[in-house]
Amino acid sequence: MANMLATDPTVVHRMTFANVAQSLRPLIATRPTHYCTNCSPGGAEPAPILRNQLLGWRITCPVCGNQLRDGGERELPSPFQQYRFAALRGQNLLDDETERGIRTWTSATEIARLLLMRRIPIPIPREHDLWRFRVLGAIIPDLNHVIAEQQENLPTPAKPILPLHLRPALLAGVAIVERAGPEMLRMLRGHMMGDNRVRFTDAAENMIARARRSRASSQMQLI
Ligand SMILES: [Zn+2]
Repeated sequence: MANMLATDPTVVHRMTFANVAQSLRPLIATRPTHYCTNCSPGGAEPAPILRNQLLGWRITCPVCGNQLRDGGERELPSPFQQYRFAALRGQNLLDDETERGIRTWTSATEIARLLLMRRIPIPIPREHDLWRFRVLGAIIPDLNHVIAEQQENLPTPAKPILPLHLRPALLAGVAIVERAGPEMLRMLRGHMMGDNRVRFTDAAENMIARARRSRASSQMQLI
């Protein structure tokens, strides 16, 4: 029985993430997306699922700091090595928010969602190529080539968990926007068209207004 509990992902999920806010749950996978060669017990079949394996924003192991490995058959090297430091910063931001409820001027998760929205690049590509362009590609230009080459569709903002080798791009994007501040969100709006532009603008302006209000209230407390 104990073994069954440990290997059923839905049970692990319910048991270990009860304290994570509902709005942050989409970042938690329902099945393991990666593993750590140091921390995952070898030999056990089926291996028990560790909580860490469901954290959809991690690129390094939260226990030992090791680089994580893809849980599936594919073992692709990340094409985003040059963004490694920004990616680690993004990982910390998402970690702080999800695990400790700490935010900076805005929510790192909300930034991640905005970055996964579709955008229309200029010049406008052929219609059957439109699917691959996301806001993130405006910040991490290599993303467009990588996606075109690997024919890998990114997840939607509703479930922002990327395959491990692409994850550094999203994490770096989150870190870059967080550091640049509200003006960057407004700049990114320029890459959107139509309904998506309206949705993006609404979400971004909400984030900016909330940041302004919380800054104002913390200043009030200082007076
Ligand atoms: Zn580890």
